[in-house]
Amino acid sequence: MRMIPKSLALGAGIIALLAACSAKPAETARPNIVVTYSVLGSVVSDLVGDSATVTVLIPDGQDPHEFQPSARDIETINNASIVISNGLDFEEGLLEVLATAESNGVPQFRVGNSITQRVVEGEHVVADPHIWLSPMNFIQALPALTSALNDATGLALDATTEVEELTQIDRDILAKMKTLSSCVMVSGHDELGYFADHYGCTVIGAIIPGLSTTSEGTAKQLAVLKELAIANKVKAIFTGLGTPQNVADQLANELNIKAVTLSTHYLHDAANYREFMLNLANQIVDALK
Ligand SMILES: [Zn+2]
Repeated sequence: MRMIPKSLALGAGIIALLAACSAKPAETARPNIVVTYSVLGSVVSDLVGDSATVTVLIPDGQDPHEFQPSARDIETINNASIVISNGLDFEEGLLEVLATAESNGVPQFRVGNSITQRVVEGEHVVADPHIWLSPMNFIQALPALTSALNDATGLALDATTEVEELTQIDRDILAKMKTLSSCVMVSGHDELGYFADHYGCTVIGAIIPGLSTTSEGTAKQLAVLKELAIANKVKAIFTGLGTPQNVADQLANELNIKAVTLSTHYLHDAANYREFMLNLANQIVDALK
């Protein structure tokens, strides 16, 4: 049945007229799934295949921690069949817009609420938002994610194939990481925790000692990090998005080791999640072997 706008539903005569004049509605469009960042977008695309349109909001190359939506982005969010975001305050600049859209009835799914969160204790206890850096988190969230998608779109998606794909990615990374005799890392900001926990690495510290690129470090913290790096015989500094390159380079120079730029927050030149994660593992293994 077609919806008749309330303002037009004045009498049987008008309704009859509308019925007579209107052609049969066109085939309803495919559901439009909006995903906040590209890495998550790749996993969602793999899950839904051709059954829906997947729109990634934050352009690849921009910092998802800091991204601010345009008026057009807000319209995209408000017109979505469902919005899938990371949650755990990862998309700091989208928090308000997403909350408003949700209160206006746009279904939302925050993946970070369906995983075993890595908790960091500082001034406050906070959950690490970098959930995509272990495929296990996606495997854990997929049942809830799939049912939220099905509820919002009327699709009948099944997560089995995607779980198998993610399991295979995990096996392939594990095989690579096993070639290292030890995996001790310094990262740009505190971003590699889920990866390190799952693949047997230790992150001794970060140049920006915080879960977001919007945090800032001090000279004193950097001096402590340098001593830790020496004591732990760290072989490389991993840097990237949001880390001042000159600070990373200087620290690496002082330690006489290399600074390796990782792409940890967006697909970069990877075709999909598999390539993204294997590129990451390859770079880490190459730098630490
Ligand atoms: Zn980050």
